[in-house]
Amino acid sequence: MAKNKVNIILMGPPGGGKGTQAKILQDRYGIIQLSTGDMLRAAVASGSEVGRQAKAVMEAGKLVSDELIIDMISQRIDQPDCQNGFILDGFPRTVPQAEALDRMLAEKGLKLAFAIEIRVPDDYIVERITGRFSCAKCGAGYHDKFQKPKKDGVCDVCGGTEFIRRADDNAETVKKRLDAYHAQTAPIIPYYGGKSILRVVDGTQSIDQVTGQLVGIVDSALVS
Ligand code: ADP
Ligand code: AMP
Repeated sequence: MAKNKVNIILMGPPGGGKGTQAKILQDRYGIIQLSTGDMLRAAVASGSEVGRQAKAVMEAGKLVSDELIIDMISQRIDQPDCQNGFILDGFPRTVPQAEALDRMLAEKGLKLAFAIEIRVPDDYIVERITGRFSCAKCGAGYHDKFQKPKKDGVCDVCGGTEFIRRADDNAETVKKRLDAYHAQTAPIIPYYGGKSILRVVDGTQSIDQVTGQLVGIVDSALVS
């Protein structure tokens, strides 16, 4: 477990490797992955009011409202499992969300160590996203080509044999999600550059190489 509290943001395009790396960092440092996409998918699956509002927007590859997301993440950060620190994955996704996060953290007496961009050009993204699948039982992430289970059809982590693909992981929606990324999310990168906590990692490298670079960055925050 991490002795120090380290709060980081992983930024980058859909399919850029944020979730994959957040899970690895969570296991390594005991800091929790907070994925707004996972939270929304859970809300959709549960049929809650939030889920009902988000479903069609997500399927269209657009962004759900800032207000809904900010409320959701603020409540989540207050949970005890965030005490050792957290990795924000998929949030903030707009400049107003980034500004709201700053206010929220100041109110809670918390701060960000780093905002890390996992940089991946658009031409990698369709293949990354259309090949993505995950274990239905434990959520472990895989890829048809880049991250296959060791034994075909069996989850490495829990031995589960059922796998799922996301409703929005199709070539048509990917284009809309990339448009939303460039128009609404990419501007948060210079926002953090102005605060000098921005770091950039080359996300076209292998999963292990990207992890190596991220570990170097997180470790630098743990050395006192
Ligand atoms: P994000 O959370 O940013 O949307 P994911 O972490 O789910 O992206 O990664 C998308 C897909 O690409 C997954 O199937 C994952 O296994 C695969 N992947 C992640 N990182 C890499 C990488 N560095 N090289 C090749 N494939 C990767
Ligand atoms: P993700 O799992 O991060 O790829 O997110 C899947 C979908 O959930 C996105 O395409 C959006 O519709 C929605 N979503 C996730 N996070 C946010 C956010 N921070 N702001 C707005 N919409 C979001």
